[in-house]
Amino acid sequence: MLDLQAHHAPFRGDLVKALARVVDHGQFVLGPEVESFEASLAEACGAAHAIGVTSGTDALLVSLMALGIGPGDEVVTTPFSFFATAGVVARLGAKPVFADIDPVTCNLDPANIEAVITPRTKAILPVHLYGQCADMAPLLEIAAKRSIPVVEDACQAIGAEYRDGRRAGTMGALGCLSFYPTKNLGALGDAGAVLTMDSGLAAKVRLLRNHGAERQYYHKVIGGNFRLSALQAAALNIKLPSLSGWSAARRTNAQRYDALIQEHRLVEKGVRLPYAAWKNSGRVNYHIYHQYVIRAPNRDLLREHLTKKEVGCAVFYPLPFHLQECFASLGYKAGAFPEAERAAREVLALPIYPELTADQQDWVVRSLAAFY
Ligand SMILES: *Cc1c(COP(=O)(O)O)cnc(C)c1O
Repeated sequence: MLDLQAHHAPFRGDLVKALARVVDHGQFVLGPEVESFEASLAEACGAAHAIGVTSGTDALLVSLMALGIGPGDEVVTTPFSFFATAGVVARLGAKPVFADIDPVTCNLDPANIEAVITPRTKAILPVHLYGQCADMAPLLEIAAKRSIPVVEDACQAIGAEYRDGRRAGTMGALGCLSFYPTKNLGALGDAGAVLTMDSGLAAKVRLLRNHGAERQYYHKVIGGNFRLSALQAAALNIKLPSLSGWSAARRTNAQRYDALIQEHRLVEKGVRLPYAAWKNSGRVNYHIYHQYVIRAPNRDLLREHLTKKEVGCAVFYPLPFHLQECFASLGYKAGAFPEAERAAREVLALPIYPELTADQQDWVVRSLAAFY
């Protein structure tokens, strides 16, 4: 699925030098490495402010904390994402309220949102799944009409652009990024960031990430320790300039898969290519293909077949939130979100990392064709 050795090989010397520099100056938490990373990240993402935090999960958690979300509140989100999206809502004592996904993009479908909004809805939390922006224009309109803030889970979508050129993580009140090592921009461990255009929210997030203290040992509000490590910031500073090239390489790989899958007539066999909505030209709906995800008939058997052929593949995600054991108390039943449930049965991610070669892709699609 991923070759992190190949990915880091060109940077190994620079990474080791940067880590050694941090060891030598000894400022391991926040400090100049983090500040310079925050400035470069804000610039790269088109955000006014970027605040480095411990992980993508904590970026989501601290964003909801900055909006004051707590017990009795509801947050509308997708049932089909990585666990953290809904987990953070429940951890604050608020209730995740789900709305079904668009079957084409697997993103939260704005058409399903209005029906689940209540007077207790305190945020809408769309996810830009697989690296493609959710349909933000109608979603933002619904939210604006009711003055409900939007938090974007852009953990899979750094560098993606919506159909009107707006950037992932900058369209809502707050945007959340993850630098988990398998993400498009990966640290050498856990790291994340919050993006915002709002200087007031930026100040709140900065305060909350450091136990709510502006001055050490004097706490204005109850925050947490969400501070980014300087070692991670130093590594991210080295990798960030390559991000746009990696996104372009992922897009080239995606196009090659599309063509190969069509050449092998697998669409006729029921395989569905990932759909890039609003696919026009240039940077319109710039999908950064964190994952290349097909819909596959007999998905589980295909997965076994590919694994036997030593072709990496993965299911993101096999069980929607509303059917997770830990959310049983929310009271949802099987069948509540048919599109999320169908996606969970059909999706299969193929290797799409930037270093993947044309020969490797050829082998992946030949293996798919052999199965069908
Ligand atoms: C990775 C991810 C997260 C969590 O990020 P971590 O850095 O692993 O905590 C949250 N949401 C989505 C959609 C993700 O892909």
